Amino acid sequence: MSHQTKKSLGQHFLADPAMIEKIVCAIGPQPGQRLIEIGPGAGAITRPLLQRHGALTVIEFDRDLIAPLTALGAELGAELNIVHADVLTVDFTALAGDQPIRLVGNLPYNISSPILFHALDHLPVITDMVFMLQKEVVDRMAAAPGSKVYGRLSVMLQARCKVTPLIKVPPGAFRPPPKVDSAVVRLEPRPADELGLQQPALFERVVRAAFAQRRKTLRNALGEVCSAEQMQALDIDPGARAETIAVSDYVRLANALGAA
Ligand code: SAM
Repeated sequence: MSHQTKKSLGQHFLADPAMIEKIVCAIGPQPGQRLIEIGPGAGAITRPLLQRHGALTVIEFDRDLIAPLTALGAELGAELNIVHADVLTVDFTALAGDQPIRLVGNLPYNISSPILFHALDHLPVITDMVFMLQKEVVDRMAAAPGSKVYGRLSVMLQARCKVTPLIKVPPGAFRPPPKVDSAVVRLEPRPADELGLQQPALFERVVRAAFAQRRKTLRNALGEVCSAEQMQALDIDPGARAETIAVSDYVRLANALGAA
């Protein structure tokens, strides 16, 4: 498929067959599963997924890619359902209907965080996600407390999903090569009772406030949201900084504030 890539749409197409095979193995489609690929582009992952799995829904924003993708489905005699849309407007819950979905894709890096937050809004219908993103973002997604890159993204995602980095991918695997390293990551939604997040809106507010000014102590950063006594009652040190607090502590704090 020849196509002039568009930088504005984050188009870096996978071109290394060994890496493509590794990624498809990491996705590991199983019979009966419903797979949705975000940003199929010129079909680097779409083709092997279709060859292996026979059926796939893809969501692509670039109208110039719709005809070639349609031709790919026809060439393989596969069931390729093409959704021509901005993924951020796609209602995954409606798309899933009564069958849970697996989300996969080499994401457009310029909107990778919005895509992750959009997916969080539809988590009950998502079995898992296998995404490629900038390695720096994957590092932040998976970071543990105390790490320099542990922040809002780590806490917001880890409260809802288990985050597992899988494969590091160098720029040379793409055409054109991006300026940064990439990585493949798996996100598996946690069972509702695992961390027991009961107050998602309050949780979001607490986490946003805590990390808004990383250098401040929790006492100062969360001054508008809760008191030092409320933190102490949960054994959370008000003199600590946001980056040292475990995900489960943020969940406990939001739950307690909601119950107060
Ligand atoms: N999967 C292909 C590959 O690995 O070679 C392409 C990946 S490329 C990094 C990202 C793809 O997402 C491009 O095809 C781009 O057109 C598409 N894209 C960009 N913004 C999008 C959006 N808002 N909604 C859906 N697709 C989008």
